[in-house]
Amino acid sequence: MDLGIKGKRALVCASSKGLGLGCAEALAEAGVNLVMNARGAEALEASARDLRDRFGIDVVTVAADVTTPEGQAEVFRAAKGVDILVNNAGGPPPGMWTDWEREDFLSALNANMLTPIALMSALVPGMIEKGWGRVVNITSQSVKAPIAVLGLSNSARAGLTGYVAGTSRQVAQFGVNINNLLPGSHSTDRIAALDAGAAGNSGASVDEARAARQATIPAGRDGTRQEFGATCAFMCSQFAGYMVGQNILLDGGNVNATI
Ligand code: NAP
Repeated sequence: MDLGIKGKRALVCASSKGLGLGCAEALAEAGVNLVMNARGAEALEASARDLRDRFGIDVVTVAADVTTPEGQAEVFRAAKGVDILVNNAGGPPPGMWTDWEREDFLSALNANMLTPIALMSALVPGMIEKGWGRVVNITSQSVKAPIAVLGLSNSARAGLTGYVAGTSRQVAQFGVNINNLLPGSHSTDRIAALDAGAAGNSGASVDEARAARQATIPAGRDGTRQEFGATCAFMCSQFAGYMVGQNILLDGGNVNATI
């Protein structure tokens, strides 16, 4: 399927690995030129090289922490005038409600709410000027159904979701569509770290912790970064122009809800 976005430019934050890389890969396959970002330069350059080689697109890399003002300034310089923005960053650590102090909340709010808002504030005006733009925020299934050990994530992502619900409706008239993409369990380094944490807490092995978690998912497995990326690319396509402020859940049926 031709997504109708060949030749456009996208910034994909936090994209050297995992879900961000899945999104970058699917956009590259659709012919979109990329600005890719991550903190670690080595994995970032390797992923950028791979996408250039496989898809013949232009890729600019920005090795920087997207959650800091300095990192954001570097990203904005490289990404000025992009047509598509995919917001992503690492997720907060798990814990108990009694573990978290004000500083932990500020850090989670900064990474998973205020950073994507800063990127939208900087880049959406350029999209409005052109009369076309797409923003996809990678959030979490925890927006629909809380994951108790991820209280910092539950809180910060709920804030971003509220912001998107209103803002998407203010910019839709200019051809700019802002939506959220909610991963359930996907097989990435992040989920491996969470399984290791669960194993440590329960005394089970990591394999046992993974199997116990996957047994609760109706699809019986984790999602792949390719499945996630393809959905993101559709949400960035010409065909998603009537999708406004939605929360698209990709969770193998894990959230047990009728709607
Ligand atoms: P991942 O496999 O750990 O990959 C994270 C990517 O983001 C890496 O490329 C990493 O590179 C980059 N990154 C992390 N922090 C960054 C920062 N501050 N600035 C720039 N780049 C940064 O994680 P993932 O599983 O793809 O998860 C992506 C997001 O989805 C996270 O917020 C996670 O909480 C959320 N999520 C994931 C799942 C899941 O099942 N995987 C489920 C729900 C929600 P560097 O380390 O080199 O910076």
